[in-house]
Amino acid sequence: MGDVKGYIKIKRQKSEYRPVCDRVRDYLPVAKIRPDAAVRDQASRCMDCGTPFCHWGCPLGNYIPEWNDVVYQGKWEKAFELLDATNNLPEITGRICPAPCEYACVLGINDDPVTIREDELDIIEHAFRKEWIKPNPPKARSGKKVAVVGSGPAGLACAAQLNRAGHLVTVFEKDEKIGGIMRFGIPDFKLEKSILDRRIDLWDKEGIEFKTGIKVGSDYPAESLQHDYDAVCLAGGSRVPRDLKIEGRELKGVCFAMEYLSQSNRRIAVENIPSEKMIDAKGKKVVVIGGGDTGADCVGTANRQGAACVVQIELLPKPSENRPDHQPWPVYPFVFKTSTSHEEGAERKWQISTKKFMGEKGMVKKLSCVQVEFSGGSMQELAGSEFEIEADLVLLALGFLRPEPIMGLEIECDKHGNIKTDSHFMTSAKGIFSAGDMRRGQSLIVWAIAEGRQAARCMDEYLMGQSSLPRI
Ligand SMILES: Cc1cc2nc3c(=O)[nH]c(=O)nc-3n(C[C@H](O)[C@H](O)[C@H](O)COP(=O)(O)OP(=O)(O)OC[C@H]3O[C@@H](n4cnc5c(N)ncnc54)[C@H](O)[C@@H]3O)c2cc1C
Ligand code: SF4
Repeated sequence: MGDVKGYIKIKRQKSEYRPVCDRVRDYLPVAKIRPDAAVRDQASRCMDCGTPFCHWGCPLGNYIPEWNDVVYQGKWEKAFELLDATNNLPEITGRICPAPCEYACVLGINDDPVTIREDELDIIEHAFRKEWIKPNPPKARSGKKVAVVGSGPAGLACAAQLNRAGHLVTVFEKDEKIGGIMRFGIPDFKLEKSILDRRIDLWDKEGIEFKTGIKVGSDYPAESLQHDYDAVCLAGGSRVPRDLKIEGRELKGVCFAMEYLSQSNRRIAVENIPSEKMIDAKGKKVVVIGGGDTGADCVGTANRQGAACVVQIELLPKPSENRPDHQPWPVYPFVFKTSTSHEEGAERKWQISTKKFMGEKGMVKKLSCVQVEFSGGSMQELAGSEFEIEADLVLLALGFLRPEPIMGLEIECDKHGNIKTDSHFMTSAKGIFSAGDMRRGQSLIVWAIAEGRQAARCMDEYLMGQSSLPRI
């Protein structure tokens, strides 16, 4: 522990954000990287408490007190080594992880927690600036061939670990570019795609083979996986969206959030979208149904496209500002959050049920809604509370139900439709493993990376009888 009184002397200071009036005009990153001196101060707030719960809060078991200590001492290279030992994509989690670690920080019990996520980002960006991160291909190859289906954070972490272990890894991706939701879901103002490309370029040079535009199950027969490869990891994500099958759902202008966000990301990447398929919020009254993070990404995107107004509605009650009693420290609580997208302008409403969409000439024009309340575990509509919201574009951000099946693979699923595995991440088919949202259901990037790493260790053991890859 560098400064024993750091947490008493220095207050928590988060990264600065660009002014709203400036950032809504472009898709450039909203957050600024902190100067090294500020990071050192913030790292000194870590108390190095004997039993660091932040370790437990981070699904990757990142060595948080250890990095903070060496950053305070100015040993940035050591901090980078510690970070690299547990996380394949710290430049991503450092930007967009919701930081369950910070909710488990001991300092957070009676003060503001350490800025762990931002410290992580500062360490990795410092390492890139100093050019400490170079392609590091394995010294020897094992002679084993491995396929990874899906190039989201789970598939990429799994591929990176297996490549480190010396196996020849091929990643199959049905989209035209690598990255999964990081590429075609999360907007550029939260995660600029050059950050992803920088890492993929390193892995490419380290020998991972990326095959894009190939959907396993149609472009490449799933039956061939076991024949062509010694082991396989299925990391196809959870992408069947929850629908709202009510009157008027067929109207033009009602679409899934992911259709909208993925198209917007493709437009920013200067892809041509045929005019008949274009979903644009410019000048429109936008309603986002669903109060979660995907909904917030829709709010930020609609404002940047020049929406006339944006309303976000949610069925559930507004979460409390503070931890609810049943979610005590150090668990990750469900609390009210205002994202940078919300700061940019949106009216948010809770306990609203949408009864039907109404339109004119096939285009959506209004939503018919009602206020609801919850008691005794059931939901009731409040009599006389019916109202309408005008809308030219409605975005359904209601979460995801289950993975899309991979045609030709006979694999057991759990009761939610996610791929079932044993405790070694192996599915009901020998040699076929699974990780990430496809296995655990819709979750977070940090969990996808953790699962990809764990699955890689299990696959390495399966292939070689033992493994020196870390357990997480
Ligand atoms: C809009 C949005 C915003 C989010 N924001 C955040 C955030 O800020 N922070 C956070 O921590 N989490 C966020 N999440 C959640 C996070 O993105 C996911 O939990 C994470 O991406 C899951 O990783 P994955 O690798 O399991 O799957 P994915 O990222 O979904 O990747 C799966 C990949 O598999 C490919 N694939 C599927 N089937 C096949 C096939 N048959 N053949 C070839 N390829 C196939 C898909 O095309 C996709 O590229 C967000 C989710 C959404 C939808
Ligand atoms: S990956 Fe997420 S949970 Fe882990 S240390 Fe970083 S911000 Fe915290």
